[in-house]
Amino acid sequence: MHERDDSPTRFLPDEAATREFGACLGVALGTAGLVVYLEGDLGAGKTTLVRGLLQGLGHRGAVRSPTYTLIEPYVLSNLNLYHFDFYRFAHPDEFLDAGLEEYFGEQSICLVEWPGKADPHLPPPDLRVELAVSGTGRSARVTAHSKKGESCLSAIRH
Ligand code: ADP
Ligand code: MG
Repeated sequence: MHERDDSPTRFLPDEAATREFGACLGVALGTAGLVVYLEGDLGAGKTTLVRGLLQGLGHRGAVRSPTYTLIEPYVLSNLNLYHFDFYRFAHPDEFLDAGLEEYFGEQSICLVEWPGKADPHLPPPDLRVELAVSGTGRSARVTAHSKKGESCLSAIRH
């Protein structure tokens, strides 16, 4: 088990703070072959975090929520990054029906909103980001679930 429980909870007072934290996370992700689960209710800031993450990696275009498209793909220098949102899944098998497992692998970074909706078909996470509403802001906590995830986490902690 690589899970560690000593991860601090950060307070993100406003949307800019969520984007900034996303950018920080993006830089820490580094290489491909990573799966990141983004957990939290509707409005917790998952898509906002991805927006900051992509901008931090140099993406200059729009970042749309994949709520209706399931997947939004990005190519950043040599990196394939896929942003998923399974909120609308009525059944986890929709993951298989859509052939989405082929996007996961050593060549890509996959960021997944509502990962539980694809359970048990989704590959396990290297990192898990938990977001929650906290007053007028949000709280964020990142935990590592593999060796690769731990390296990313120590990069965030500097
Ligand atoms: P999700 O993808 O989790 O459903 P979104 O990223 O779409 O959530 O964000 C929902 C709303 O929360 C947006 O209006 C966004 O501006 C706002 N938001 C994001 N982060 C924060 C924050 N740290 N404090 C206050 N509002 C935030
Ligand atoms: Mg979203």
